[in-house]
Amino acid sequence: MKFSVLSDSLEKMEKTSKRLELTGILVELLKKTPNEIIAKVIYLIQGKLKPNFEGVELGIAEKLVIRAISKSAGVTIKKIEDDYNDGGDLGITVSNILKQKTQTTFSAETITLERVYETLLKISTLQGKGSQDMKIKYISSLLNDATPEESKFILKILLGTMRLGVAENTVMDALAIAFTNSKENRELVENAYNVSSDLGKVSEVLAQDGLDGLLKFNVSLFSPIRPMLADRVKSEEEAVKRIENEFAAEYKLDGERVQIHIQDDKVILFSRSLENITNYYPDIVEKISDTINADNGIFEAEIVAINANTGNFLPFQELMHRRRKHKLDQAITNYPITVNFFDILYHNGNELLNYSYNERRKNLEDVIKENEFAKLIPMSIVNNTTDISDVLENSINSGCEGLMLKVLNANYRAGSRGSNWLKLKREYQNELGDSLDLVVVGAFFGRGRRTGKYGTLLLSTYDSENDSFPTICKVGTGFTDENLDQLFQILSNKVILKKNPRVESSIESDIWFEPELVLEVVASEITLSPIHKTGLNLIRKDTGFALRFPKFTGKIRTEKLAEDASCPEEVSALYKNQNKTG
Ligand code: ATP
Repeated sequence: MKFSVLSDSLEKMEKTSKRLELTGILVELLKKTPNEIIAKVIYLIQGKLKPNFEGVELGIAEKLVIRAISKSAGVTIKKIEDDYNDGGDLGITVSNILKQKTQTTFSAETITLERVYETLLKISTLQGKGSQDMKIKYISSLLNDATPEESKFILKILLGTMRLGVAENTVMDALAIAFTNSKENRELVENAYNVSSDLGKVSEVLAQDGLDGLLKFNVSLFSPIRPMLADRVKSEEEAVKRIENEFAAEYKLDGERVQIHIQDDKVILFSRSLENITNYYPDIVEKISDTINADNGIFEAEIVAINANTGNFLPFQELMHRRRKHKLDQAITNYPITVNFFDILYHNGNELLNYSYNERRKNLEDVIKENEFAKLIPMSIVNNTTDISDVLENSINSGCEGLMLKVLNANYRAGSRGSNWLKLKREYQNELGDSLDLVVVGAFFGRGRRTGKYGTLLLSTYDSENDSFPTICKVGTGFTDENLDQLFQILSNKVILKKNPRVESSIESDIWFEPELVLEVVASEITLSPIHKTGLNLIRKDTGFALRFPKFTGKIRTEKLAEDASCPEEVSALYKNQNKTG
């Protein structure tokens, strides 16, 4: 298929943010797409090459792209940078430069979607010595043959800046309409996505086998299942009101959630956001088969750092020491862990999602042989507030955060948050009732002991409706020297030349970042603010929410994507709640 079929649709999509119109354009595009390349189209419209869990990163720096454009268009780097500074979007800048150029050259060869996709995939695998030059070569060869309009989108994909507002939800609507002629089947599409985390694969099955294919869609080993999430309750009383009869109370450990896929010697670990984290935990890969008594399976567990001498649980942030590529051996010895199982989703070829909690827990107890390294998360059956308080007390005394309360006859609802799992934490660390997870979008240079580091960070929530990151506060307290070093290292790789267009801010920060890193923050109060953009106009015109006395808790939430950060609605609920009780 010609790449222009895709780029024409992308051009149309760029002109609207209305979900219905986006869906319509997408349906039209999907109908024109041959079955063999449908998955590629699905990935490309989302600015990707593969499902997230495969970890294929283009991650091309703006500087490199500018060099490639300079080579292909015969324009100086300085001229491109100047135009970019005037213009705003590198894709558009390039498209304009190429338009001027094509007026003076012959039209190039037609470029196919397959060629663009394969070239981008090749670029994503290049590493090491000489790889920069090869990347420039591949990019400029594509740009040589692409029209200015096509180049714009190729660059946006390369830079990771293609934001068309086609959220997964819109893609699922379009798939249901394009291949089943009815939005009624949307739920089946979503179920298939929830168990595979791969819309490309879902689209392929739909295109080839239609609804029958979807009905037979199964969990498969080594494709992660989207995690079930919990609602938050504030007290034992609220929990009992929400769940009638008996329910399971499990300790809530303060670690990293992991989905373990295992078959014979092959072990793959996925994080909460379905990133492949196998390389950070070679000790799990080595030891876990001693614990699991099965030919194959998919398990959920919490990885927790422990004190090497006492075996006691340590807080989540200790696991950060494992997030490194070098000297991992040393980190394994210095920062030992345990794996604590709480669910089983697949066992010896059978999918267990439709089994009740009770049945899954029994299965888990049969399959897991506990030892020093791997354990079952403690569980008791409870039905009243006194029992819950007792278990909560024990859990806190063992160094846990609180409890997870689970309905006994409920099945595993992949990808959804609801009342079948509730989380109850004992200590609310702040007056708000809960912490917020916020995205770092900018920073201000530090003074004094923070010279040469980022002294204050600018933070945003995630607004899913607009797919944007509106600011909510600046934070400069709660950081240890170690935190500052660590954050400087992580954030230095995310620096961009100018504010990402998805960031909504009236504040000019000294430096801008790709909105990716999530930090946990507490505060004394939520106030109304004319400066910050979170929840703008929700309560009062031209006014958003801000945090008063925000403080970093020390938790860098590496397991969360920016899109998992707290949203304006959550902030609004906390705001209303504080006004009610305060
Ligand atoms: P979310 O609810 O979106 O996951 P979060 O990551 O902030 O938000 P937490 O408040 O930390 O969630 O609570 C849910 C997390 O608790 C799970 O994702 C999991 O990592 C962890 N957890 C600890 N113990 C358990 C358990 N027994 N059962 C399920 N999850 C547990």
